[in-house]
Amino acid sequence: MFIDPLYIIMILPAFALSIYAQIKVKASYSKYSKIPTSSGISGAKAARMILNAEGITDVGIEISRGFLTDHYDPRVKVLRLSERVYMDKSLASVGIAAHEVGHAIQHARGYLPLMARSALVPISMLGSNLAWPLLIIGFIFMSKTFITAGILFFSLAVLFQIVTLPVEFNASFRALKALPAAGILSGEEVTGVRHILSSAAMTYVAAAATALLQLLYFLLRAGILGGDE
Ligand SMILES: [Zn+2]
Repeated sequence: MFIDPLYIIMILPAFALSIYAQIKVKASYSKYSKIPTSSGISGAKAARMILNAEGITDVGIEISRGFLTDHYDPRVKVLRLSERVYMDKSLASVGIAAHEVGHAIQHARGYLPLMARSALVPISMLGSNLAWPLLIIGFIFMSKTFITAGILFFSLAVLFQIVTLPVEFNASFRALKALPAAGILSGEEVTGVRHILSSAAMTYVAAAATALLQLLYFLLRAGILGGDE
């Protein structure tokens, strides 16, 4: 298969950032999953304490299968924590649990970017499913109509990645504030949690940068191709 060198050159910085972020996430997780919380509080307990402190009583906490599969499901108001995050009394577990609680708080408070992100889920999935076939057909047959349609659908997926950024940063911000406020972590321990959450945030930045650069590439190539109709 032929791969455009321009594509590789444009995507490379985002690809490098994504690899770097993944290494950072793994390293900080393995470091801070070995450091116990001085309060002896587990991820699940921390999540419940923060929810209570925020006056949120209608969110369930469950164990989910798999490694780092932690997420908040707004449709059923359930926080699903992976087994280790749920059980472990480590800085990593408590930090990840608190981040997911951050999403539950966003939901309870009607945080606008989270609502926009939820609304964008089906649209962006449709967009990314349709974009690639349209773009491939468009570039093979040099059809401006197909390319334009592909770029428009691809933009929806890019928009989703960008809206994800404030949602993720804000959830971590809420977690870092709530953990010491609820008496779960000391100021020094919060620094460890900040390392994990900021490296996780970097993976979202890398994903958004990749999507944006891909869009830029398509726009550039579409411009180079010019009209054919
Ligand atoms: Zn998150």
